[in-house]
Amino acid sequence: MTTHERPVDSVLETIGRTPLVRLQESPGDVQIYAKLESFNPGASVKDRIGRYMLERMLERGDLPAGGTVIEPTAGNTGIGLAIAAQQLGLDAMFVVPERFSVEKQQLMDALGAEVINTPTDDGMGGAIDRAHELAAELDDAVVPQQFSNPLNTEAHYETTAPEIYEALDGEVGAVVAGCGTAGTLMGLARYALEHDDSTHVAAVEPEGSVYGELLEDDREEGEYKIEGIGTHDPSTNELFDPELVDAVHAISDRAAHEELARLAREEGHLVASSAGAASVAAERVARRIDEGDLETPHNTVVTVFPDSSERYLSKGIYRSFEEWSS
Ligand code: PMP
Repeated sequence: MTTHERPVDSVLETIGRTPLVRLQESPGDVQIYAKLESFNPGASVKDRIGRYMLERMLERGDLPAGGTVIEPTAGNTGIGLAIAAQQLGLDAMFVVPERFSVEKQQLMDALGAEVINTPTDDGMGGAIDRAHELAAELDDAVVPQQFSNPLNTEAHYETTAPEIYEALDGEVGAVVAGCGTAGTLMGLARYALEHDDSTHVAAVEPEGSVYGELLEDDREEGEYKIEGIGTHDPSTNELFDPELVDAVHAISDRAAHEELARLAREEGHLVASSAGAASVAAERVARRIDEGDLETPHNTVVTVFPDSSERYLSKGIYRSFEEWSS
């Protein structure tokens, strides 16, 4: 089911049930499908965890009614949490490293949340530390902490994954997804492996990120432009479980940028750099299946396009690679 045909009472109820679209560049007999998460009300995959984490935390008494949610976030999670917090009667405060897109910060502000910036050089680690300091200063504040909260993975296990399996009648050969917190990939992987333990699971990171080291791949740490995925310090992530992952694909900024431009020009998908990277990796996996180099239970590869390019226009996402990456 990918439509919302009946009237609903709150924007929260429009989260999920996003479309799954076959990519026209699928190689040979292998089909690649992309889940279009920009169809969520906050226009990203993170609306799912915003609603799921806050509802569960309120139910369990881990978050007091009328309390404050404080989260270190690159942006999309802030928007998802801001929508859920507002609708569930909570206050929201976000700590965002400066390098992230201004559009996202304006949206969090429009939704009634407070945005606090930390220096780019302090990375996500700096934002995490600041969020905990702020929470300690208030009595009713909670940090959901998407990088270590199992509810993040569970949101995808309970919603994203079953939607995909329902749409494809359970015929999923491989799941491929970018890893920021890795909540998306871990939720999909757990569901997929319970369904059929020979399903191929592939993570995607930018070149310069070092998740691959968790699978003992060689990685050279460096800077990258792709937003929303990757890490320089996998120890700050408690969700990524290497046992569930068969491969980690490192995608260059250039390849992701070329692909997001192609997806717009040829397939009508207005998606951002993490989707470009996911699409490149999904194509690599599909090609290996098509060439008989990788055995999967079905000839299908599923990936996730986490958000929309509109959120990055001011960063020159559709300009030349040189302009975008400078
Ligand atoms: N792409 C974008 C644009 C994101 O904001 C995120 C979340 N950081 C991801 C991909 C990765 O999702 P996850 O955190 O579930 O790994």
